[in-house]
Amino acid sequence: MKCRLVLALAVAAAVAPAFAQPSLADQWNLADIYPSVAAWDADAVRLESQMTELARCKDHLGDNVGVFKRCMDLRADMAKRFTRMAVYAGELLAADTGASSSLELTQKGDVLQAKLDDADSFVRPELLRIGDKKIAQFLAQDASLKIYRHPLDEILRAAPHTLDQAGESIVAKFGLLSHGSGTIYSTLTNADIPWPKVKLSTGEEVVLDASAYTKYREAPNRADRKLVMDAFFGAHKTYERSMGLMLYSQLKEDMVYSKVRSYPDSVTRALDQDRLPVAVMDTLIAQANADLPTLHRYFKLRAKILNVPQMAYYDIYPPLVHSDIKFPLARAKQLTLEAVAPLGPEYVAAMKKGFESRWMDAYPRPRKQSGAHMEGQAYDVHPVVLMNYNEDYESVTTLAHEWGHAMHSVLTNATQPFVTSNYPIFIAEIASTLDEELLLQHMLQVAKSDDERLLYLGSALEGLRGTFYRQAMFGEFERNIHARVDAGESLTGESLTKTYCDILKRYHGAKEGVVAIDDNYCVEWAYIPHFYNSFYVYQYATSVSAASLFAQKIIAKEPGARERYLDLLRAGSSDYPYDLVKKAGVDLASPAPYKAIVARMNSIMDEIDAIIAKRH
Ligand SMILES: [Zn+2]
Repeated sequence: MKCRLVLALAVAAAVAPAFAQPSLADQWNLADIYPSVAAWDADAVRLESQMTELARCKDHLGDNVGVFKRCMDLRADMAKRFTRMAVYAGELLAADTGASSSLELTQKGDVLQAKLDDADSFVRPELLRIGDKKIAQFLAQDASLKIYRHPLDEILRAAPHTLDQAGESIVAKFGLLSHGSGTIYSTLTNADIPWPKVKLSTGEEVVLDASAYTKYREAPNRADRKLVMDAFFGAHKTYERSMGLMLYSQLKEDMVYSKVRSYPDSVTRALDQDRLPVAVMDTLIAQANADLPTLHRYFKLRAKILNVPQMAYYDIYPPLVHSDIKFPLARAKQLTLEAVAPLGPEYVAAMKKGFESRWMDAYPRPRKQSGAHMEGQAYDVHPVVLMNYNEDYESVTTLAHEWGHAMHSVLTNATQPFVTSNYPIFIAEIASTLDEELLLQHMLQVAKSDDERLLYLGSALEGLRGTFYRQAMFGEFERNIHARVDAGESLTGESLTKTYCDILKRYHGAKEGVVAIDDNYCVEWAYIPHFYNSFYVYQYATSVSAASLFAQKIIAKEPGARERYLDLLRAGSSDYPYDLVKKAGVDLASPAPYKAIVARMNSIMDEIDAIIAKRH
């Protein structure tokens, strides 16, 4: 699971790295995946011959249960092999982004992927033609086929949204035109727009591209923060019209696909990819709105700690508490192991084994990929974690987060066959943010001073704001603009800005005087690349909410809560994610998880208030 979108991770990437000489123990051993590139090449040859074998399955999948099983097993083996190859090539490149041999390997992988997709393209339509009745008979005839029950259901449930052969052929051709606006947006913002240069109060001159913006909006000097935001959003304002056309194109594309695929609207189609009920999104947004007073309480507390008379939008990012406390990696590992103890000795032992077995590339070095991620799909091997560990507290929380993902993969891979060993983002971010919550609880217990406690509480609070309220706000904006385009309305950059402005000001309590928001910042929507990946980021908000409620039940030792949660991590994609989470005890279409996270934010603020009160 890659999670470069997570806000905590961007922070880790923004810190200037110090390149120490790490011991081998803190560098991963990718030879566990392939001992050499030659071994990778051998698998590529094997995969090519398997493609020829798969071609013989075409038009014969429905012949009898024997052929059906042979072909399904072959496909699964091919997917497993290719995934392992892709993981190896991708992580080799991540470890040294300048290595042309690794780049070449990933490109070979891309070519293979295209061939594989092509070789496999007959399967879905053929399964739909065979139909669910006959496939159910096959499953009943051979018990070993039961591992395919859910993956087959995923394909078969597309029947009402699938056209006849001529229709599908046309849709496939138009597929070449899809994602055009997102690609243009990405090139424009990453390569073409001349980002403004500003001179900070320190004398430092910086060019404000997106990564410099995320770094300097945290500037301790208030005038600097204002300067940074004015210049960055000022640049976006210049392109408001074109940015509006691009996003409008994306919205229209989603609208067309939802019509072609017989969905009532874009949101239903997007959520149906994982068969999530729209009630999940609606309940999240309704609860976030009902609990805006908690977000406003946070902003008022922030104003008090930062000592600003009136919170402005540019006061949101500087850390609440500055700290020079260093956490050497060995200490961070120890703290994380202690923190996850409520999940039981087996969970702790598995994590310890991973820490000791070179699964992680821990430290920054030149040409290494920035940020942090976990990759757990090399099925017969083990997960790998990439970090740029720099000994601050954010690094410790990132360690807990990524190893939460890694343990999810360990549990799933140990329980599920390959075909159901992947898991969707809807569940993935529960496993990582739950470990972050456990880390917070543990850090508060071992903290030696109120200053330390404030550091942990402040960091957690800011994380929850960014992961819950901000992503819910993005979800509300997406729901609004998609619904209008679905209904035939046309949108411009100007109208997108107005809609975003209304939502942004409501969330930040502008009318109530909580946060003052300059109208020039309302073009912020143009800076968010995720809007080209429709209805995705709201899942960070649902996940962190579910994690909050799971953590509460586990810490309170509610009977069966821990086992139900671990069973969720073991379940992989053996069923639909909403149902799996519900079975584990959290209904994400109900208000309970959202109330739990809001209550958690309030309890953190109560603790901060108590510390501040002691000082006066
Ligand atoms: Zn994550």
